[in-house]
Amino acid sequence: MKKETKRWAWSFGILFIIILVFNFSSNIFSKENLDEESKDNFTNERIQVIEINDKFSNISEVHWTHMPITYKFENGCVERQISLTKLAFISISNETSFLIYFREVSESPDILIHCKSREWVKDASKITLGEASSNTSDYNKGLITNSEIIFYSGGMTCNTGYPALEVHEILHTFGLRDIGNLDKIMSGYSAESSAKCKIKFIDTETLSCLKYIYSNGTIQGNCSRVLFKVCDKGYVLGKDNKCHEECGKGYYCLDSTCCNNECFTCSSDSYLGEDCECHEY
Ligand SMILES: [Zn+2]
Repeated sequence: MKKETKRWAWSFGILFIIILVFNFSSNIFSKENLDEESKDNFTNERIQVIEINDKFSNISEVHWTHMPITYKFENGCVERQISLTKLAFISISNETSFLIYFREVSESPDILIHCKSREWVKDASKITLGEASSNTSDYNKGLITNSEIIFYSGGMTCNTGYPALEVHEILHTFGLRDIGNLDKIMSGYSAESSAKCKIKFIDTETLSCLKYIYSNGTIQGNCSRVLFKVCDKGYVLGKDNKCHEECGKGYYCLDSTCCNNECFTCSSDSYLGEDCECHEY
């Protein structure tokens, strides 16, 4: 009887070990399979999460993320243009009570400044003395990453002596765009005509907006009278002055999803399929 029990015990023990080994190895195999599968499924769609350090994170308007803003002159700018531009940087700093300030650097500037002769102007029908463009972050269209200014003027000055053209172009790199009103800094016509230019400083509305943005909202101000620049390709400027993903030429969706150039909203228990229909989860 004793012998019999021992034999049973041995058999059970061996069976137990066999099951254990089998389980363990099948686990390894299935894990390997899973890894293989997930590799296939996810390598192409990995989403990179980038943390952007934004000093002005309370602000929803387009803005630079840091101070000072650095700049560099490319070869080819005459001394007169360089000093007018430097005067413009100082004027902006003074007028914004140094909420905005600049620093010249020799490489990787935020603003790269070129000077070209008049024949380089793209649209010859327009009297263009300068132009500026900004790029925004791929991860957040509201954040300016770098800019470029081209001066064609060779240092033409406003009647008042204020570096109106230079301040105007620098403010373009802040995302501000032209307005129609005369005698304001963002009015292209005033800033670019020397004889009719009456500008002596940045107008109150523009200044109020700049101070609000670059104090991260701690200084009261408002940007409702200031227009912001057109957005990157594939994005349109909304009525809220923010860039939205385009849904059909010149349209965007507000709190809904674009599908085949139309905006759709599905209820919370469904999702929008590729066929532009809502499907239950
Ligand atoms: Zn302009």
